[in-house]
Amino acid sequence: MSDIIKLLPDNVANQIAAGEVVQRPASAVKELLENAIDAGGTRIDLIIKDAGKTLIQVVDNGCGMTETDARMCFERHATSKISTSADIFAIRTKGFRGEALASIAAIAQVELQSKTHDSDLGTSITIEGSEIKEQEVVACASGTKFTVKNLFFNVPARRNFLKSDNVELKHIVNEFERVALTHPDIHFTFHHNGNELFNLPSTSLRQRIVGAFGKRMNERLVPIEQETPVVNISGYVIKPEHAKRTRGEQFFFVNNRFIKSSYLNHAVKAAYKDLIAKDQYPTYFIYLEVAPDFIDINIHPTKTEIKFEDERTIYAILNSAIKNSLGKYNIAPSLDFEQNVTFDISLPKPGQEIKMPTISVDENYNPFNSKPASGGGGSSSSFKMPKSVSFEDEEVSANLDFLDVIKESTINVKDADIFTESETLEQNWSEEPIIETKQKFYQLHNKYILTQVRSGLLIIDQQRAHQRVLFEQFLSKIEERKIETQRLLFPQQIELNASDFVLIQDVLEEMNNVGFDIAVFGQNTIVINGLPIGVSESKAEEIIERLLEELKHSTNQTTANYQQKMAMFMANSASIKSGRKMEEEEMEHLFNELFACQSPDYSPSGKPVIIKMEEDELDQRFERRK
Ligand code: ADP
Ligand code: MG
Repeated sequence: MSDIIKLLPDNVANQIAAGEVVQRPASAVKELLENAIDAGGTRIDLIIKDAGKTLIQVVDNGCGMTETDARMCFERHATSKISTSADIFAIRTKGFRGEALASIAAIAQVELQSKTHDSDLGTSITIEGSEIKEQEVVACASGTKFTVKNLFFNVPARRNFLKSDNVELKHIVNEFERVALTHPDIHFTFHHNGNELFNLPSTSLRQRIVGAFGKRMNERLVPIEQETPVVNISGYVIKPEHAKRTRGEQFFFVNNRFIKSSYLNHAVKAAYKDLIAKDQYPTYFIYLEVAPDFIDINIHPTKTEIKFEDERTIYAILNSAIKNSLGKYNIAPSLDFEQNVTFDISLPKPGQEIKMPTISVDENYNPFNSKPASGGGGSSSSFKMPKSVSFEDEEVSANLDFLDVIKESTINVKDADIFTESETLEQNWSEEPIIETKQKFYQLHNKYILTQVRSGLLIIDQQRAHQRVLFEQFLSKIEERKIETQRLLFPQQIELNASDFVLIQDVLEEMNNVGFDIAVFGQNTIVINGLPIGVSESKAEEIIERLLEELKHSTNQTTANYQQKMAMFMANSASIKSGRKMEEEEMEHLFNELFACQSPDYSPSGKPVIIKMEEDELDQRFERRK
């Protein structure tokens, strides 16, 4: 048999390699931006069209290339950054493999213009599918301009595999943000289809974060700083009260390289324990510096995972550094008049006497003397509630009917902290008969609604019940396109970060179909002109935040699925909340609406709404013999 092994031609080898280096436009953007940084540029412009599918251009004012280098740079394993294997362990540059340009040139039409600072003329090279098409001497600015057109023009399978422009653009924005966050000293701009998405002048890290993610960020950041022999930590974390319900911005950089680490993320989350709710996420921009031999830097450039020599130590140091900073910030919080006032408890005026809640007890009460209501036949429904009761007396309690269970638990407020309620309770309880023909409703801890049904006691979670009711109402209106919009007197502007801005444009139409009136309002900003009736103005931003989070984590939203989600967000935000006192009529109304629902038993997110205690169960627990 004759020999069959042969070396692959360069263009084929490059195309194969390109599959690993350039998966999508964002990967080409990353490589070009990193090269521009490695070249020492102080100003870098990124210009793209159609989410990078037709054009990616990166212009820098860095060192530029000589004519020979300009030709060489497209060769595989051509790099100026290392020359011996020992260099690999002391890398200071972003690239060092000499693969990127060879790969990009294998799968796109690339034009390079470059000039070093000490030469008068520069070089222009056009290369297409690894083949040099043209080379000439040109007059151009010092630095380098790469123009990448029609990515994957010769690999249709890859091209077809690309996602929608908005998804691809979002990936590019992510890469851009990561690069911009590691080089605040460099002036970056970013244009997409002629619109400026970012313009970030050279500045401090804090101002870079603010420039990229919005002015509101400034007052929300807490610096972290920790130097140890193992690792130096710096950066910013968010004040706990500004934690988001969405994952939002979470960045780790190790030796100025963006990485993902669920392990370190856990260390951050743990530092916020008890400071933020379970479903909230802290925003962070954390920079770790470790000795290069402490990590495996030779990971593939497109990978963002990293291996540390001693992960556990870093976990502990990071965790305590954040706790420390949050602790300091807590002791001396900045005056912040914008803070949410969640608890509206009026403090007693100086000198005002504080009254303890009291329960009046009728010492003469004897349950056996109580007279049945008129026409009553001894059934529980004819039982008359005494004016007031001694709850200390177990004998007496045991002889009351099961509804007294409710009362006992309600009266527990005497050792709870709901001072303001004592008055109302006393009034309620000293009132008329507990059971009449009309159904009675009691509110427990401003959270649960208690009512009697034939077979026992119903305990209803007021918030979830209302969510269920609103959910079904919103959903049917959405499906029938009948939802009405309430125009806002003062339209509300919301500034988003660039990638969220891109995402939301995808769904504006759908949102406007369900009663929102939202429009794009210039750079990274949307304006809410109207909301679906029932959604309060103060919730608008939260709904949008949740929606964005949903969009980020789900692919292929169907309209039905999407409508359900919208109905759920709207119901959750518009519903009566736990902790709100409800009047009896209101409770009755909610009760009736709940039982008119298709699935009253569960909240829109699948949690129980109703708990039923059977009379039998109560009897058993009281050890009553039948
Ligand atoms: P690497 O970055 O791993 O060295 P690349 O393929 O990305 O490999 O680039 C090859 C070489 O081309 C670089 O080592 C550098 O010398 C040169 N180069 C690439 N981009 C630029 C640029 N924007 N300015 C100056 N030189 C560049
Ligand atoms: Mg490179």
